[in-house]
Amino acid sequence: MALRKRKYMADDEVIVLDHVSKSYTQNVPALSDVSLRIKRGEFVFIVGDSGSGKSTLIKLLLKELNPSEGNLYVMNYHLNRLPHSRVPKFRRNIGVVFQDFRLLKDRNVYENVAFAQRIVQVPSKNIRKNVPRILAIVGLAGKYKARPGQLSGGEQQRVAIARALVNNPTILLADEPTGNLDPKNTNEIMHLLEEINEAGTTVIMVTHNKEIVNAMRKRVITLRRGVIVRDEEEGVYIDED
Ligand code: ADP
Ligand code: MG
Repeated sequence: MALRKRKYMADDEVIVLDHVSKSYTQNVPALSDVSLRIKRGEFVFIVGDSGSGKSTLIKLLLKELNPSEGNLYVMNYHLNRLPHSRVPKFRRNIGVVFQDFRLLKDRNVYENVAFAQRIVQVPSKNIRKNVPRILAIVGLAGKYKARPGQLSGGEQQRVAIARALVNNPTILLADEPTGNLDPKNTNEIMHLLEEINEAGTTVIMVTHNKEIVNAMRKRVITLRRGVIVRDEEEGVYIDED
């Protein structure tokens, strides 16, 4: 494993796609010959029209999908060759947040976050320390007992972020995390993601929000019909039409 990593990835890289394509059907591929390298600690926006392949890229990084062609490396895992049995251990390195929060509706905030620790068998004593610590970081220290239905959209997304972060992932993947939020909550969530990134987590965020991308001046990768058409440091959102 170490040998493989030395060969294909630099020490400071956490994600490498080497000529990756993904086809769901015989038609146009969802991703086509995508090559890309992401370093530990980067903040990367993935932008592009609906259907351009953004979520497909996120699913490949999680090994929810396998590439049709090309090679995919995440951390020191060669995902093409990772057997099913080792996928859960691999996924501990990655936190994920979605547009629709995906919280357990019949559990309170504390339980939603603690659940992520229970499934990786963290001892109860540690869970009782870790969950309050992470809820304080996302600004929900006073809401342990609330159910998702009693929270605003912005608060629910904070719970989802806490759940994604509680196991200390190296990479946070966020697929349109502000897609259901108003501008005020969007700004708060972006501020939180920036803090998380400054604390060392690599953040990869899919978004349609032009204002956010243009305000933050991070790396911007633009997909168009499954192809990377732009990849710029301190980039901006450019409509592709
Ligand atoms: P985005 O997230 O940028 O909107 P997606 O990655 O979801 O784009 O989709 C890229 C392309 O792949 C689209 O043409 C979409 O219709 C197609 N696609 C996505 N998921 C599937 C699937 N499960 N089966 C067949 N086609 C799919
Ligand atoms: Mg999508």
